[in-house]
Amino acid sequence: MKLLEMNHIKKEFDGLGVLKDISLAVEEGEIVSIIGPSGSGKSTMLRCATMLEEIDGGEILYMGKKAAWVENGKVMHPDKKEMKEIRSCFGLVFQNFNLFPHYSVLKNIADAPIHVQKRDKGEVYKEAMELLKKMGLEDKADAYPYQLSGGQCQRVAIARALALNPKILFFDEPTSALDPELTGEVLKVIKSLADLDITMVIVTHEMEFAKNISDRVIFMDKGVVALEGTPEEVFGADHTRMKEFLGKFH
Ligand code: ADP
Ligand code: MG
Repeated sequence: MKLLEMNHIKKEFDGLGVLKDISLAVEEGEIVSIIGPSGSGKSTMLRCATMLEEIDGGEILYMGKKAAWVENGKVMHPDKKEMKEIRSCFGLVFQNFNLFPHYSVLKNIADAPIHVQKRDKGEVYKEAMELLKKMGLEDKADAYPYQLSGGQCQRVAIARALALNPKILFFDEPTSALDPELTGEVLKVIKSLADLDITMVIVTHEMEFAKNISDRVIFMDKGVVALEGTPEEVFGADHTRMKEFLGKFH
């Protein structure tokens, strides 16, 4: 089943096309990496998929249900109840963690399940502790974000996203704000999610990681999907812009 479908997405900023007719679909269980030069529209694509930005053209579907579409130049969404359902099926992990600085680690993770999803507090805290354990952070439950390293913060952010039980998890350059020695621990956690069959869309500059983890790789360039295929197909493609891009990592 297709969890996510983005069809002919267009997005402009100040009259400038940032996404120019982007189409992509993500199957349940699939891991898709998105690579491409800075400014090619990767973050905008994720922000449109998660409806942090409104699209200017095209349509977005989750599990076959329309989540956003454009009619007579206006973006449309289903009613509030359906939108709530749709929003609950995805999670987003940002480049800069976006943790609440005044909340403890445990509260960062448990807050939305308790207050947005209205789930039982005891159950949520129990699950949050299990997630922290999975992230190797069970001793940090009462710590505050400022007391953690960047890698630890990002692992808390991943736990927070997982606590909402999303069907699909989006990552926007989850390691690009980290020192190189902290990148590995976060990539390892993401890799462990892959082993659990969680559907993931990962924007990343970690080429080896993308090559190893992905079922499919998308190379974005100047607001379009320039290449798409298996890691072998994309990384081995005889494509000028792709080769230029990869050259920057050597
Ligand atoms: P990437 O994540 O691939 O580096 P982005 O999606 O962040 O690319 O940006 C694509 C283009 O859109 C860039 O030229 C950027 O300056 C522009 N852009 C992104 N967000 C905004 C915004 N909120 N307002 C104006 N321009 C934006
Ligand atoms: Mg970006």
